[in-house]
Amino acid sequence: MKPAPRVSLVHLGCSKNQVDSEVLLGRLAADGLALSGSPEQADVAILNTCAFIGPAREESMRAIRELLDRKKRGELQGVIVAGCLPQLYRPELDADPALQQVDAFLGLSDYSGISEVVRAITDGRAARALTGGGIRGIPDDSVRLLTGPRSYAYLRISEGCDHDCAFCIIPKIRGKHRSKPLEQLAREAAGLAAQGAREIVLVAEDSTWYGRDTEGVERLPEAIATVADTPGVRWVRTMYAYPNGLPKGLTAVLRDHRNVVEYLDIPVQHIAGPVLKAMRRASSGQKVRETLERLRSEVPGIALRTTVIVGFPGETERDFEELLEFVKSFRFERLGAFRYSPEKGTAAFGLEGSVPQAEIDRRFDAVMRAQQAVVAERNRSLVGSTVEVLVDGTNERGDAVGRTRADAPEIDCGVRVVGKAAPGQIFEAKVLSIEADGYDLVVKPVNPRFEKPRAGVRASGDGAC
Ligand code: SF4
Repeated sequence: MKPAPRVSLVHLGCSKNQVDSEVLLGRLAADGLALSGSPEQADVAILNTCAFIGPAREESMRAIRELLDRKKRGELQGVIVAGCLPQLYRPELDADPALQQVDAFLGLSDYSGISEVVRAITDGRAARALTGGGIRGIPDDSVRLLTGPRSYAYLRISEGCDHDCAFCIIPKIRGKHRSKPLEQLAREAAGLAAQGAREIVLVAEDSTWYGRDTEGVERLPEAIATVADTPGVRWVRTMYAYPNGLPKGLTAVLRDHRNVVEYLDIPVQHIAGPVLKAMRRASSGQKVRETLERLRSEVPGIALRTTVIVGFPGETERDFEELLEFVKSFRFERLGAFRYSPEKGTAAFGLEGSVPQAEIDRRFDAVMRAQQAVVAERNRSLVGSTVEVLVDGTNERGDAVGRTRADAPEIDCGVRVVGKAAPGQIFEAKVLSIEADGYDLVVKPVNPRFEKPRAGVRASGDGAC
């Protein structure tokens, strides 16, 4: 019998794209294809691309060229390009003379036939496969092969976005908002827990919109509680909340459910009214402040993560100073800053009032310096306190590493554990010191066997990024 084709997947992009990559791998494995960790040992390579901003598109194009070089040298039989790039630019990619050796361009939500496309390539009966545009349905992510540490997994609660932020191309790539039914979330969460995930990270384009399209009312709190009640799940974290008010019951579930971490990722993007208006954010600066203050007052000890964009067209020195002052005074526990990058196809592309790149860089550095000072101070105050830790794996020196309840995987701070600890373990630990980088904590378990829900034990404050 002919051996099954060997397939390798190269993943680029965000956590939502990672879910797509894991779905692709899950389908290939379920259909009996052999998976390989590297294109060197594969017959066919699949590249799952990102097209969010210019540098991400360039990275995707570089990766396509590298795989095509391998194919030219006879090291691969086929190259499949999937994800956001072909979803958005399929006609252009299809017409590009340098990409004629790509065997298939697959847009989003076209993955049910992936194994057949691979077999057609290895059987030598492939006409160039082109699909795309199938972005209206609700994704089914139940067949999935996790690629990260087993300690956590992302769960996509909805797909697409109904907003119209001037800087963002995502609605054009992923379409209008579609919520998964609660029963589907429960099923998918159980599947992830069965694969060993202790933490489930809820992702969406706008998580606060969950339920609006299907029931006319936001049901994010129910989604969080449903996942948190899944046997085996110990932490549930919510990302990408839109700061235009809060769904009813959200602060209660963040505060009261023991398996829900006191954490919210709530990208504000800016605080100055004229910039928010130009960005077409539905919130005013006042509304954003009220939403954040409400979270702080109704969820004691909450860690708030946000992102801000500096250098949006028309951002004056005064607007920027307002943002900087806000970052310093509100003292987000976690913060990421982005330099504005003009994207063709967005409303902001070609707007007047562009900020010179050197000035964008200066503003970016100023925000980052301000946040570093916040981080340093918060981390210093944590030494000697007790935090709850989830172990993700080991570092290059073999030390166990993980995170506190206040840290999302991949983007926030981490901890290094002094003493033995296994991936997936959750325990209370004492903060001994701060790592030389200033961001990560060194902790020692004080109760390594701690696994059962215990009322009233929460990470207090925690470090900031
Ligand atoms: S809410 Fe987020 S995903 Fe939606 S348009 Fe705005 S930035 Fe893009």
